[in-house]
This record gives sequence, C-alpha cells and structure tokens, in this order.
Amino acid sequence: MPELPEVETVRGIIERAAAGKQVVGAVCARPKLIEAIDTELGIERIVGSRLLAVERRAKWLTLRFDRDPQIILHLRMTGQVAAITPDGAREVAGHPVPAYDAPLPATTTHLTLTFDDGTLVYLQDPRHFARLSLIPAAILGDYLAERNLGPEPFDPALTTERLAAGLAARGRLKLKPLLLDQSFVAGLGNIYADEALHHARLHPERRAGSLDAAETARLRVAMRAVLEEALPIGGARIHHGKATQINGFPRVHARKGEACDRCGTTIEKYTLAGRGTYLCPRCQPAPE
Ligand SMILES: [Zn+2]
Repeated sequence: MPELPEVETVRGIIERAAAGKQVVGAVCARPKLIEAIDTELGIERIVGSRLLAVERRAKWLTLRFDRDPQIILHLRMTGQVAAITPDGAREVAGHPVPAYDAPLPATTTHLTLTFDDGTLVYLQDPRHFARLSLIPAAILGDYLAERNLGPEPFDPALTTERLAAGLAARGRLKLKPLLLDQSFVAGLGNIYADEALHHARLHPERRAGSLDAAETARLRVAMRAVLEEALPIGGARIHHGKATQINGFPRVHARKGEACDRCGTTIEKYTLAGRGTYLCPRCQPAPE
C-alpha cells in the first residue's frame, strides 16, 4: 500500500488539479526526499515550469513539465498526495495518515507545490519512504526501463499465451510471491495478489508451472477484475493498518474469520514468504 489503484488515483488527482498550470512555488521541507538524477537541479528549478500531464507506469508517477527537470514520484509504503484547488475542493489519496481532512501543510508534509491559479499539491509521508526524482526528459525512458517492470494486468500485450509462457518459465515458484514480483507483472501488491488468487480460485502456493490453460485464463481475468473493482473507489481504504471492506472490496484480504462471499467458508490467514496472506480454503484448495 499504496498499490496500483491507489497510485492511479493519485495520478488522476494531480492531473485534474494541476495539468496545464504553471508552478509558482516549490517548497521541500525534507531535502532527502529528493534524488537528482544526472542533473544538479534542485526542486526550485521547477518554478516556472508548466505541468503537461501526469503519467503512471506501475507504481511510478511521472509529472511531465514543458521543460526539464521532470519529476518521478514513488509513494512507497506511506506516501500521501493531496490537491486543493482555489474553490476549496480537496482530493486526497495514498496513506491514511494524516487524516484526509487534516489541515495542510502538516508536520509530515515534505513537499508543497503552488500553481499559478493558487492550486496546492502536497506530499505527506509520515515514515519517509517516498522518493521524488528530478530527471531530464531525455533519460526518463531509460530510468523506467531499468526498473525491469513486467507488463501491467491491463496491458493488451499480457495475453493468456504470454502469461502461460511466463508461468512456465518460473514453473517452480509459488503463485503469490510470483504475482508480487514486479518484473513478472507490474502493479500487484499484497492486497491485490490475495484478491486475484481468490477471484481465480487458486491457492497462493500453487506452483506457477502447475496451472492448466483454464486456470491461466482465469488468473489473467482475475488480475484485471480486482483492479477494475478497486479503481472506482480509489483503491483500498486502510484503517488501523488494515483494509476496510467497501462495496464488497476487498473480498478476501484482511477478512480473517469472516465468511467467503462466494461460498460462505471462513476466510483464513497465514504468512507466506513473509507476507500476511488471506484465502478461502474451499474456493482455493491447497495443492497436493
Ligand atoms: Zn470460498
């Protein structure tokens, strides 16, 4: 957390609030937030730049400006973005701390961008994991390529055939850790990996090479379906470190002891490869 739907929500928030507008102020309260890549430029150098668009690749956001430097933002575990437009409208996404209606800037606000119409964009991060890179446009593509990101679940290139080939190539690996491997498929984190496996009725410890054609097709559909379900509600809502169910989402993650909404069996939790893992023991039978 934040995962792909939450990052996509942040992308939309910044773009709606600030695309087409010019930066008139940039204040960084925590210089270690910023990593300058192949450039000596500091954050103040984006003053005067106009934001053209906000793009997302997996969990990396690119703020594209009409001149260098460009910004790459990764919220990691605890980043939060808020945008407030001059009419007072506020949109917030990402980590739940500080509260979405808290006064801003907060003590955890690391970056404040002011745009020419008075729009404010704030980055909060209580645990200092978020990273912001200043980077020339000419090497943006290389920077993302070096992250070795696999296809995203919505990528048309991720056909059932390509997924089957990928599973076969990593045949001995267990499904859940494989889904979390961003070089295999980019954008699924712990919540969505659990959700996708439940949707596809596959046990998290099935070996990648053991899926038949129907199971592979189900997994591909499931990865898209769980993200599609989460996007309209802005992703998972985390309270006290746990996802809270909204409109039936999540269906299995963080629901230990509750009934599976497909079959009524009690949802179980255990630890797999160091990650809290939820499953329905009936819908997702253990491999033999
Ligand atoms: Zn079930």
